[in-house]
Amino acid sequence: MPIDEFRCAACRRQTSVLVMNRDRIGKVRCRHCGSDRLERSDDDADGL
Ligand SMILES: [Zn+2]
Repeated sequence: MPIDEFRCAACRRQTSVLVMNRDRIGKVRCRHCGSDRLERSDDDADGL
């Protein structure tokens, strides 16, 4: 299934989103805090 990993820019938590259509990525929200400021996190080498 097309599940993408996002990281919330507000609470820094990870959210997995089932993406049916790539055009919908801009509308996904963090399920922890409800923010829509999600970043793609398929590249986990971010230097933290
Ligand atoms: Zn969040």
